[in-house]
Amino acid sequence: MLVATSSYALTTSTVVVGSSGGCLLIDPAVTAADLAGLAGELAARGLRPAAGWSTHPHWDHVLWSRELGDAPRYAAPAAVSLAETDRENILEYLRQSAPGHDLELVGRMRSLDASAIPWDGPEARLIVHDGHAPGHGAVFLPKSGVLIAGDMCSDVEIPLLDTVATDPLGDYRTGMQRLASVPGVRQVVPGHGHVGDAGELRRRLALDAAYLDAVSAGQPYDDPRLTEDSPEWMRVTHEDQVRYFQRLPAAAAIRDGQQQDRRVRRVQADVVLRGHEVVGGRVDLTVARVAGEARERPAGDLEPDPVPATEPVRRAEQAHPDGAGQRVGLGEPHDAVTDVARPAARVHVAQPHEQVRVRVVAGDGHLGDDLADNLGRLVQRIAAEHQHV
Ligand SMILES: [Zn+2]
Repeated sequence: MLVATSSYALTTSTVVVGSSGGCLLIDPAVTAADLAGLAGELAARGLRPAAGWSTHPHWDHVLWSRELGDAPRYAAPAAVSLAETDRENILEYLRQSAPGHDLELVGRMRSLDASAIPWDGPEARLIVHDGHAPGHGAVFLPKSGVLIAGDMCSDVEIPLLDTVATDPLGDYRTGMQRLASVPGVRQVVPGHGHVGDAGELRRRLALDAAYLDAVSAGQPYDDPRLTEDSPEWMRVTHEDQVRYFQRLPAAAAIRDGQQQDRRVRRVQADVVLRGHEVVGGRVDLTVARVAGEARERPAGDLEPDPVPATEPVRRAEQAHPDGAGQRVGLGEPHDAVTDVARPAARVHVAQPHEQVRVRVVAGDGHLGDDLADNLGRLVQRIAAEHQHV
C-alpha cells in the first residue's frame, strides 16, 4: 500500500496494490499537478487503477484525471447522490482551490451499496456512516490492518461536522463508534494528516470525543489541533461549530471577500443578521422547498450581479420532487421565500440593505414560525455550506 501526501492541507491519496498490476485508488488528490504526479508514479511502478473509491462527496475527495484511466469509481449511495445535487458547489470550490482539473471527471462515481469494494485485490471492507458528510465511507483492509479513514481520525483537523444534517453530533459519534469498533486496525490513514498506528488511532478518537463533548456542551475547548498556527478556515469552522451548539447565528463567520484560506474561498457572502433582515450581497444558499406560494423571479431581478438564467432552481433539480423551486429575489416586506436542504442554487440576496424575509421549511416539516430563529438556522446553513472541505 502506498500513501501520497499533498502539501495542500496534508491531503492523502491511498493506493492499494492488487494483483497483476491493478490497484485500488482512494481519494486521489488534490491539485492537478498532484494527480499528474500520482499517475506518473503509478505508471513508473507498473500499476494501473483497477477501481477508485471516494470516501465522501467533498471537492477534494472526488477527483480523477484521464491519465488515471477509466476504472470504475465508486462511493456510497448517499455520497453519490450529494455529489450529483451539490455538483455546482463542488466545481466552484475546485475551480477556486485547485484549478486545472478536468471538470468532466469530477464527482463521477458509481453508487456502491456493498460491504466491500468489488475488485480482485486485497479485501477492502467499507464502513459507511454520516457525520462529516453524508455517506462517508472509510475503507478497512483486514489483511494488512489498514484503516483509510477519510475525513475522520485526523491528527491535524478537529472533527468537522455536517451541520446541515438533522443530527450532526449523533451522526458523528456513530461514525466514530463504527470506526473504533473495527477489529484489528494496525494503521490509520486520515484524509488529511499523518498515518498513525493503533495507539494513535485511539488517541485521535479520544481527542475527537473530548472535542465533541466540550463543544456540544457549549464549553470552550483547548484542542491541541487548534493553535495559533492553524489555518484560518479551521478556526472559523470551530467557531461556527461552537455557535451551532450554542444556537447562535453564525452571521459573523461570513465576511465579504475574506478569503483567508484557500479552503474557504467559496465565502462570498456578507450576511449580517439584524432582526428580520438579511443584509448583504452575495450569498450561496440552497433551495429545496418553498413555504407559501412558489413564484419564479427573473434572473434580472437579482442585481447587482445577476445569476445566469440557466441557474435558477428548477423542479427537476430538487431533492424533493414535490417541492417547488424558487429563487430569492429582491426583498419585499412580506416575501416569503425559501429553504434549504441539499440541492444548491446560487442566489443573490438583494442589494445591501434590502430586506428579504425568509421562512425556513425543513424537508420534514416546519421548523417553526419564529422568523428570527429561522433566520438563525438559515444563516447557520449558509455558514455550513461554506465549511465543506
Ligand atoms: Zn471533507
